[in-house]
Amino acid sequence: MTLINPLISYERALELVLTHLPAPHPERVDLQSALGRILATDVYADLQVPPFDKSIMDGFALRSADVPAVPFVLDLAGDIPAGTVFDRPLEAGQAARIMTGAPLPAGADAVQQVEKTRLLSETKIEILEKVTPGQFVSPAGCEVRQGALVVQAGQVLGPAHIGTLAIFGKARVDVFRTLNAAVISTGSELVEISERPGPGQIRNSNGPMLIAQSHNLGLRASLFPHLPDDRKATERLIESASSLDVLIFSGGVSAGEWDLVHQVMKEMDATIVFHGAAVKPGKPILFARRGRQMIFGLPGNPVSSFVTFELFVRPAVRRVMGFVGAELPKLSARVTKDVTQKPGRRFFKPARLRFGADGAIVKPVETKGSADLAAFAAANALIIVPPETSHIPKDSSVDVILLEQFVLEGRR
Ligand code: AMP
Ligand code: MG
Repeated sequence: MTLINPLISYERALELVLTHLPAPHPERVDLQSALGRILATDVYADLQVPPFDKSIMDGFALRSADVPAVPFVLDLAGDIPAGTVFDRPLEAGQAARIMTGAPLPAGADAVQQVEKTRLLSETKIEILEKVTPGQFVSPAGCEVRQGALVVQAGQVLGPAHIGTLAIFGKARVDVFRTLNAAVISTGSELVEISERPGPGQIRNSNGPMLIAQSHNLGLRASLFPHLPDDRKATERLIESASSLDVLIFSGGVSAGEWDLVHQVMKEMDATIVFHGAAVKPGKPILFARRGRQMIFGLPGNPVSSFVTFELFVRPAVRRVMGFVGAELPKLSARVTKDVTQKPGRRFFKPARLRFGADGAIVKPVETKGSADLAAFAAANALIIVPPETSHIPKDSSVDVILLEQFVLEGRR
């Protein structure tokens, strides 16, 4: 039995993880691959926006002083389609047909929309409504000045940021590096998902689940062949994966004779940061560092694996990928049923959250324990029950962690 006794709290365990992380590293990527990444360097405007005095309507560019009263007839001096520049200044009494997005000709100071005009002939246009100076013109630089800070380092890049960076010619951008990870399921009882388990065997379900959770984070994770509970095989695997940023083990970290992961790690000079935390599910959670590498040993019970990944792997990985908000969002909700637990550990109870007319409502999801992934799969949230609490009465307000599943489902 190597679990720390007494167990450290959830808060302390998380703090230990977050204070034992390598620093984020920037890398340069194509703009198209930057979605969801964190910008590593400030980006400044290489030009002003709009780059020229721009018409924001289809209509006629004119000198507003030329139209003292309406209706008023002007001479048509030519056309200015978008992407072209009128080659001469507009003279007194002239108008030019202009498209949305085209530059105003020199001398013009306003645009009248096509709907407020009447074409009299090929060379005459009648302005039907009065024109104010600057009307329907977006002046050069009115949106962004050249040299202005446009996207700040630390920003999570969403589609609108990608578009903004494109405005300023950033075909490649500096973002924090994505991490490479291996998901390693341990257990001599495991068979591949395509196989039918023989006596005493089960399918490796944690492997694909943890890969899916990794993908949700933007972690580049590959599923390694599952490991038997064998010292030599575990050693060989850790050695072969030493170039990866993160190792995520499932199973083999509890107190049994065949739970070898932490034993092997110690022998291989990994620093065990902690082993065991007062969380339910997931008590035997282990976190270690080996050089730059972060190693997580998640308990093998599928619900424990899932929950400890979200509680510990997620914030760690996201921090190292440059995220500031590294944890899942939390909110308060009204619980629909009594919740009871044996005090001592922080309990993360699976639940379904929804928004009713009077706010967030959370309904506990009953499972047969931390092995019961099939029942847990109905959850889109976790109710946080503090370690000293043994009973939360129906209708009281509880803290809830939103799982990614909630967003996937769309708000209901
Ligand atoms: P362990 O943490 O290795 O003691 O495993 C705890 C329980 O989780 C045992 O019942 C295991 O059979 C089960 N388990 C371990 N690894 C996996 C896995 N990859 N997929 C499904 N169940 C697993
Ligand atoms: Mg095992």
